[in-house]
Amino acid sequence: MSHRPHGQQRSRDVAGPPALQHPDRSLELTGGELKDLLDVALSHLAPFLDSLPDHPASNLANSAEIAASVVQPLPAAGQPAETVLAELFDRWVPPGLNAAGPGYLCYVPGGGLPHAAVADLISGIINRYIGVWYAAPALAQLEATVVRWFCDLVGYPEQSGGFLTSGGSLASWSAIVLARHVVLGDNFQRGVLYTSDQAHHCVVRAAVLAGFPRGNVREVESDDQFRVKIDRLERQIEQDCREGWRPLAIVANAGTTNTGAIDDLDALADMATRYDMWLHVDAAYGGFFLLTERGQNLMRGIQRADSLALDPHKSLFLPFGTGCLLARDCEHLKSLHAMRGDYLRATPGGPESVDFCDISPELTRPFRGLRVWLPLKMHGSEPFQRYLDEKLDLTQWVTAQLRALQTERGDRIEVMAEPQLTVAAFRLLRPNLSNEQLDVLNQNLLERINAGRRVFLSATVLDGRFVIRICVLSLRTHLDRMEECLAEIQRAMDELP
Ligand SMILES: *Cc1c(COP(=O)(O)O)cnc(C)c1O
Repeated sequence: MSHRPHGQQRSRDVAGPPALQHPDRSLELTGGELKDLLDVALSHLAPFLDSLPDHPASNLANSAEIAASVVQPLPAAGQPAETVLAELFDRWVPPGLNAAGPGYLCYVPGGGLPHAAVADLISGIINRYIGVWYAAPALAQLEATVVRWFCDLVGYPEQSGGFLTSGGSLASWSAIVLARHVVLGDNFQRGVLYTSDQAHHCVVRAAVLAGFPRGNVREVESDDQFRVKIDRLERQIEQDCREGWRPLAIVANAGTTNTGAIDDLDALADMATRYDMWLHVDAAYGGFFLLTERGQNLMRGIQRADSLALDPHKSLFLPFGTGCLLARDCEHLKSLHAMRGDYLRATPGGPESVDFCDISPELTRPFRGLRVWLPLKMHGSEPFQRYLDEKLDLTQWVTAQLRALQTERGDRIEVMAEPQLTVAAFRLLRPNLSNEQLDVLNQNLLERINAGRRVFLSATVLDGRFVIRICVLSLRTHLDRMEECLAEIQRAMDELP
């Protein structure tokens, strides 16, 4: 290791083990060593970013063997960064799905803004603690400001608040625990939650993790546009009341994962009011489309929700690891979470201060605010709005193009629903085939599309049918890749037996 002045031995005679006189400082990087380490990392990261469009969308060969090569005993002695990072980038990053690339059109993409990764680097190195305001007042305020921006975007009142989570699943869990606490207190076993048959599976899991028997969640049927049927929901609530259940909460969708469907939020808010229920909106996928005029029209009434889940790592293009829970009344969050141990007595606050440890389940946690704040501060909201509008337009475009595809033997494409956000869900139709045969054929089609490795699409089940989804939400996906996507679908259709 390099020679450092602060490691020099003092002249004073100190008794004790030599390690006290010559402490190991090898873990403490100097500024210069940090730069060297970052140079090594950047020598991989810069070409990685620049070559993203050329990477295959998927790399599924030899996955198990490559993954097995990671299994090594904990080394007692270290290796140079050059060696370790070369192995990481050359062998272990490539296998699987290229979630950062423009061909990633499966599940719900985002792409990953590199600015947020730089913010994470800064957060990690300054390592300030933002769980209590007084430990890093301006940085805690920075994170609170990000939450305030989100509240304003939704149209929430001044007393609203919330916190950043690791993702939408944990935001959903917090929302359901909050609803349980506010509406029913400790006696909640007869409480019932209502959502649609299109809800993300994390909603049912959140209810179970919040202590509800699974049977207390009603998954109400949706209509032909995959929005919850309001009359069905009301009938179910009435029936549960008659049977002695206590309707507790409605979990509405603002962008389902399957098709991007948005429930009638105003009607659901009316119903929640009528039955004295909590309204939670799962806007993990759809939420940031509020930056666009089309999104605002589709999500009318969203500000009436008691709580709301957002996923900046989807429609705000952040790298994985940031969700958000908002509550219309932040006092509810306080009443649920505020408790402290003797080792963390009351800490000084300021007029606008927020102690995140008093309104959220975590105590020590990463400084998530900076990874949201930095890209928004550097670019402003306008490019985000333009990107989201572009994704909406690309989805309309690809839907129209899909409807025009056909083959010589008469195969054609059925689009399952008019896209509301950025999912096009479709299946191949062939005359005289049963639904079971069509399921097999579409599975085959999906495999052939993905085998080209320019795009990666995923599937779901709608009305019992196997359906292929295109989800256009990566910041790096533009018209050129969507044209390629269509060409790949046409190729795969032509190849089908
Ligand atoms: C992705 C998603 C979730 C889950 O969020 P994670 O960030 O993956 O935990 C919940 N609801 C919807 C609608 C989603 O698209």
